[in-house]
Amino acid sequence: MNPTEPLIFEKSSPGRRGFTFPVCDVPEKPVTNLLPQTMLRKQEAKLPEVSEIDVVRHFTRISQMNFCVDTNFYPLGSCTMKYNPKINEDAARMEGFTKLHPYLHIKHCQGILKLLYDLEQMLIAISGMSAFTLQPAAGAHGELTGMLIIRAYMEKKGETRHKIIVPDSAHGTNPASAALCGYEVESIQSNAEGLVDIKKLKESFTRDTAALMITNPNTLGLFEKDIMEICKIAHDAGGLVYCDGANMNALMGIARPGDMGVDILHLNLHKTFSTPHGGGGPGAGPIGVTKELEPFLPIPRIEVLATESTEITERKIAGANGRLPLHPHNAVSSVNSVADLFHLNYDYPDSIGRVRAFYGHVGMMIRAYTYLLSLGKEGVCKVGEYAVLNANYLRHKLEKNYDIPYGSTCMHEFVISAKKQKGKGASALDIAKKLLDYGFHAPTIYFPLIVEEAMMIEPTETESRETLDAFAAAMIHIATDIEQRPEVVRNTPQTTPIGRPDEVKAAREPKLRWEMGVG
Ligand SMILES: *Cc1c(COP(=O)(O)O)cnc(C)c1O
Repeated sequence: MNPTEPLIFEKSSPGRRGFTFPVCDVPEKPVTNLLPQTMLRKQEAKLPEVSEIDVVRHFTRISQMNFCVDTNFYPLGSCTMKYNPKINEDAARMEGFTKLHPYLHIKHCQGILKLLYDLEQMLIAISGMSAFTLQPAAGAHGELTGMLIIRAYMEKKGETRHKIIVPDSAHGTNPASAALCGYEVESIQSNAEGLVDIKKLKESFTRDTAALMITNPNTLGLFEKDIMEICKIAHDAGGLVYCDGANMNALMGIARPGDMGVDILHLNLHKTFSTPHGGGGPGAGPIGVTKELEPFLPIPRIEVLATESTEITERKIAGANGRLPLHPHNAVSSVNSVADLFHLNYDYPDSIGRVRAFYGHVGMMIRAYTYLLSLGKEGVCKVGEYAVLNANYLRHKLEKNYDIPYGSTCMHEFVISAKKQKGKGASALDIAKKLLDYGFHAPTIYFPLIVEEAMMIEPTETESRETLDAFAAAMIHIATDIEQRPEVVRNTPQTTPIGRPDEVKAAREPKLRWEMGVG
C-alpha cells in the first residue's frame, strides 16, 4: 500500500482524457448564447485531466487505506460494528427501489410503502412500543425528534417544564439533543455499581422536569436493573422517560423497552439492524412512542386502508370511517393482503411536523427490512444472546491483565481501564494505536467519561471464537509489552498508511482546496 498516494490533481496531465465525446450531430452554439452572463465562469474550472485507469487506480488505492469491518475485527464500543450481510445490499439495489421517485403518485409506490409499514410493525414487535416513525436520519436526530415530541406533549398539557435529567454515563448526544431543543440539562452521578442512583433521581426529578433520558443497557455495558422503578419515579412526578436504544443489540429478541415503561425510544438501524455506517454516510434513527404520544409523531404517517375486496375485514376492524387503527395489534392479517392500500396521512394537528424530506433514508430501511426477514424470529432472538455471550467471553479473557471497574458480567459491551498501564508508560491511546499493527480496529477510547483511561469494547454477535481469541491474545501481548518496554507500544502504529495524525487540527482546519503548485 502506498502511504503517499498523491491527490488526483497531482496526477493530471494536460490533454489526457478518460473518454471522448461522439461527433456532434446538431448545429453547435456557443454556451455564452445559452446561459445568462452571471452564470458563466470567469476562468476555466481546474479539473484533473486523467485517464480512466488513473481514476480507477487512484480511488481503489485510497479505498484500501480504509479500515473496514469487511476486512478486520472492529470492536468499537457503542457503535455496534457488526458485519453487514451483503444480501441487504442486493435488496437495496433492486431496480424497483432505486428507480422510485419520491414524487411518484401514491398509486405507484404501494410496494415501498408496504415495506416501510411492515418495517415499522417489526420494530414495534421488537421494542414493545405502540407506533414508530422512520423519518429521523440518525440516532442523535431521533433524540432531537423525541425531545420535540416531549415538548409538544407538555405544551399541550399546559405545562412549562424546562429540565431534562441525563445520567453522567449517557452518550454525549443525549445532553446535546436536549439542549438543542431548549431544555436545561441536569446531570446525575451514577452510583458505585455504575447504574442510575435511585435516591438522587428521586430528589432531582421535580415538577420542573420534563423527562429522564436514559440509555439501557448503559454506556458501561450494564443493564439498568431498576428500570421499572426508574420509570415509575418519572411518571409519578408527571414526567416522561426517553430511552436511548442505540444499545438495543443486547436486548433484541430478549426484552422490550416498551414493557419496561419507557415512553419514547430511538433505535439505530445503522447499528442494531446491520445497515452500514461510518464515514458520515446515511443512517436512520427511527423512534417509537407510546399510544399517548402517537398524535405528536412526525407527519406524514404511513397507514393502510382496506379496499373493497377486504371490506368485511375493514368494517370489522375499523368501523365506519374505513381507516384501520394504527396500532399494530389491531392491524391484523389484512396487512399482508395484496388488496391493501397504503397511504400517507398528514392529518395530525398535534404533530411536530416533518423532520426529514420525503420518507427519510429509505435505502437504510430496505437493508434493515431485509436483515430482519433473513434472520426471522428465531434469528432475531439469537442476536442478543450471542452479542452478550461474545462480550462476556472477551471480558473474562481480559480481566487478569486489565482493570475492569464496573460489574462482574456485562451485556453486549464492557469498559476496561488502562489506568494501570498508563502508570507504566503507555496510555489507552497507545494501546489503541498498537492494536492497529495487529490488524484490529481500536475499541472506543476515553469514553464513557466516568472511567479513567477507558477502553470500551463491543465485539458484536457476528464474530467467531477464533477472532475473539486472537484479539484477546493481542491485548494480553500488549499488556505484557507495557510491563517490559512501554516505548514499543508508544511508538505505534508502524504498519498503517498514516500513523498518528493531528486529529484536532484535521477536524478544526480541514484543507479542502488544492492550489496548483502549492500542494
Ligand atoms: C451511536 C449512539 C448514539 C448516536 O447515534 P448516531 O446515529 O451516531 O447519531 C446515541 N446513543 C448511543 C448510546 C450510541 O451508541
